[in-house]
Amino acid sequence: MNDRDRSEHFLTTLVAVPSVSGDEEAVVKVFEGLLREVGLKTALRPCTGVHGAVNVEGTLGAAKPKLCIAGHIDTVPFDGMTVSPLGERRGNRYYGRGTTDMKGGIAAALAAVDRLQRRGVKLGGELVIVGTASEETLKCGGYQMAKDHSDADGVVCAEPTGCRVAVAATGSLPLRLDAYGTNGHSSVPGRGGNAILAAQAATKAVVDALSESVDVKYVGKRDRAVNVGVIRGGIAQPVVPQLCSVWLDVRYFVGETAPQLMERIQALCREAVVSMPGVRVEATQERLDYEGKPYPRGSWGDFIHVERGMRAFSTDPQTSVVQAFRQAVKHAGGDERIEMMRGWGDVEFLATDHHVPTIYFGPGTVEVAHSADEYIDLDLYHMGVEVYERAIVAFLGDSN
Ligand SMILES: [Zn+2]
Repeated sequence: MNDRDRSEHFLTTLVAVPSVSGDEEAVVKVFEGLLREVGLKTALRPCTGVHGAVNVEGTLGAAKPKLCIAGHIDTVPFDGMTVSPLGERRGNRYYGRGTTDMKGGIAAALAAVDRLQRRGVKLGGELVIVGTASEETLKCGGYQMAKDHSDADGVVCAEPTGCRVAVAATGSLPLRLDAYGTNGHSSVPGRGGNAILAAQAATKAVVDALSESVDVKYVGKRDRAVNVGVIRGGIAQPVVPQLCSVWLDVRYFVGETAPQLMERIQALCREAVVSMPGVRVEATQERLDYEGKPYPRGSWGDFIHVERGMRAFSTDPQTSVVQAFRQAVKHAGGDERIEMMRGWGDVEFLATDHHVPTIYFGPGTVEVAHSADEYIDLDLYHMGVEVYERAIVAFLGDSN
């Protein structure tokens, strides 16, 4: 097996195991096997709060500094995929569910450790690779990892960044708008306030106002993403609708919080319907799962998405984890300018609750994450391996 094939073996082995969020027993076993294969001491860490969810990790060394490389090993479902979900090579691309988000990223880290071990490099410090559980749904793996590794000196999450070093990530506010009207017959629409029209006005007001450019610490101006995800309302054409609900995903940046944004959203909704008689709009936070059902109040899903919330962070570019990865990217011929990840990942808990310098670096590209023809570019994959190999040594030191 040549070097390139050897590195790709970690990618193809991981992608070949189905691991849709919540159904992760098989991938935990395979990932544990790969961690052992590269000479790491493995452990399973059950996630408190969610029965059956387990993180799987491998450790090398026990000194300081401590570098934690993390990646979720679950994926979104296969529905509608136009390529083989369990892996298919076409030219310089490897297709399949999770290739970019994010088995490709964590496989590149494994391949890097494998190369270091085969070269006989003796690392200083401690390296931990964590495969986290259920990131696509309950996010319990990231939450558990933060408890287990709050003493880390640097954290890298291998989510897709196109081999750029992302020092910031967005928070996500799960918004629900309920518009209330007054029931009536459609032949006299003036009598009742129309909930669907009220929801339309409020949704437009929120989307228009919040789709703005925000100055993000360390990374500069970024456009906020606001997605209208689900709408439900009305009964039949002859009835003026009494209720219409809309669910949106509002991204936010470091320095902003969900409660602050909610205050602004509530004011926008009030203003939007002020001239519409017989209606009102209420804004609350609620997350729907992939089947369109809300996580019940008091459940783990509600705790993570609403009560605790998915927050934003920015990491100081002067920290050593950022420096180690930027230099390694430069050396590999990549673009070493710092970036922002266009999303949220489960290392956020370490970054915000424990103030561990945290970055995202992965060879996948977020544009094809969750897509019908998800793939990873193999040249980027190998660049990712090279960057991980060099950055791990730069961060931990070589004790030879
Ligand atoms: Zn992901």
